[in-house]
Amino acid sequence: MSLLVVGSIAYDTIETPTTKVEDSLGGSALYFSAAASLFSPVNVVGVVGSDFDASKISFLKKRGVNLDGLYMESGKTFRWGGRYFDDMNRRETLFTYLNVFERFQPVIPEHYKKSEFVFLANIDPELQLDVLNQINNPKLIVLDTMNFWISGKRKELEEVLKVVDIIVLNDEEAKELTGEMGLIKATKAIPAMGPKSVIVKKGEHGAMLYHENEFFFVPAFPLDSVVDPTGAGDSFAGGFMGYLAKTGQIDQATLKKAMVYGSTIASFNVEDFSFNRLENLTMKEIKERVKIFKKMTFF
Ligand code: AMP
Repeated sequence: MSLLVVGSIAYDTIETPTTKVEDSLGGSALYFSAAASLFSPVNVVGVVGSDFDASKISFLKKRGVNLDGLYMESGKTFRWGGRYFDDMNRRETLFTYLNVFERFQPVIPEHYKKSEFVFLANIDPELQLDVLNQINNPKLIVLDTMNFWISGKRKELEEVLKVVDIIVLNDEEAKELTGEMGLIKATKAIPAMGPKSVIVKKGEHGAMLYHENEFFFVPAFPLDSVVDPTGAGDSFAGGFMGYLAKTGQIDQATLKKAMVYGSTIASFNVEDFSFNRLENLTMKEIKERVKIFKKMTFF
């Protein structure tokens, strides 16, 4: 089934305790697409500047990512810089240059409007609402957000929450959104705001799904070393939604499997910078890791 993503396309500067990479390809829409396209075709909506080198995303085209909704504006592409602390679990933002993203008004191409699965990546909730107003009655809407919008655009975020099916956020964001100090209480409080289901990402501690009053937990894959955690959340969402779009189902059992696929793809993503790992990832590798997940959690 068709899958639409609206989000950022970026040049990232990443500092880890051992390495610094400048202007590497990133952004929520691209991490999502690189992951989801392993399972299903993806329609992308986003904006880049005239400095953008489109040849670097040709691998996405080959994997069935439709870039008709990728607009090029005069000016510079969005840039984000982040530095990871020694444990690689925490990071600080060094800079955010919105550039062409500042004036971004997403226009959904006509042939995208019937997309059945929609991922609203972490962008201004006003733009997320605007996207929803342009599309026809999708089967599933998933939304990502961050502290910046929870505190800065709360009213707009509350509006968009009323119409989405699933929200994906991290533990700090769940607490800030609900004002609850405990993670379980916070998670349980979210459905009253609109989303029927909640996915909480907990970094190296995996992710949990709260759906129809039931919790489901997936660990993070135990990796000896993480090279670059950037895009873990978006590649998780891409694996999760790509799997759902492939099956066309959104029942409890399929959502649980999709959580495992999300976690699997995110675990590959963090093994290298930018798209170096996802670019050549094969279904054989994915299936092998899913098998290990099963062994790790079955009793
Ligand atoms: P994640 O590690 O999953 O949180 O995603 C990191 C990606 O989000 C990076 O590639 C950044 O370019 C992008 N990003 C960072 N800050 C923002 C922002 N304020 N709006 C949109 N995208 C962002």
